[in-house]
Amino acid sequence: MRKKAVRAAADDVPSPPAAPSTLVESVVFDEYAIRACLHVHKRTCTYTHPPGRKVYQRGAHIIWEVDGADAKLYAQNLCLFGKLFMDHKTVFYDVSPFVFYILTDATSQFDHVLGFFSKEKVSYDDYNLAVIIVFPPYQRKGYGTLLMEYSYYLSRCANVVGTPERPLSELGLKGYIAFWSAHLVRTLQKAYTPEGADIRAILAGTSTTLATPQRPIVKRRRAQRGWAGEERAEVAQPPPALAADVPWPTHTTLARLATAAGLR
Ligand SMILES: [Zn+2]
Repeated sequence: MRKKAVRAAADDVPSPPAAPSTLVESVVFDEYAIRACLHVHKRTCTYTHPPGRKVYQRGAHIIWEVDGADAKLYAQNLCLFGKLFMDHKTVFYDVSPFVFYILTDATSQFDHVLGFFSKEKVSYDDYNLAVIIVFPPYQRKGYGTLLMEYSYYLSRCANVVGTPERPLSELGLKGYIAFWSAHLVRTLQKAYTPEGADIRAILAGTSTTLATPQRPIVKRRRAQRGWAGEERAEVAQPPPALAADVPWPTHTTLARLATAAGLR
């Protein structure tokens, strides 16, 4: 992640494997070796889930919070593995300043990892996410969105705005554009409902309060791909005409829009 973190770590952590590329090659190309290693490993390994505490659960999907300082080796291995699917981030060995949020899917025997994001424990730039990765077999299933949503949730809890660390990777940029586009569309969709009068009033500056408007009762989509997806207001009827006395604002910001819609 950060070069300075790597440098700072030089004294207190064991040096990295001599040739990571050899490791990668052997992992990727020697599947027989992997099977044999896995077999041996399984006989002694007692882990059934990431070594942290459960912070979110929906059905079989769980997010675990793992402190890099407490589970150093696990976090280092996770980063090394994640690096296989990233192009530009520096692999780091000092994982202590980071917390890892790891998304797993439960089978009957253990929770296997689908993806994760890391976050600096102390960020002077209010970064709420350093690296995000969803492993290739599980991409395009909404897991990235779930992790991003969770990163903003953590920021809200800490009462800061929060933003991902820059520069974003190509995949990260795509993910965040999709995330915020969906957010914007949901907000606009909401503003068109009769209940959206509050939102329009706040945006137009005619409302005296910025209190979170009452959220309309919406049906949740049936859980698919493991999490319930975004809320979706009933869209069977055409959008009703806007109340004439609540004008649309001439311009606004995404943040204000989201606040007005009670989405942040
Ligand atoms: Zn193990």
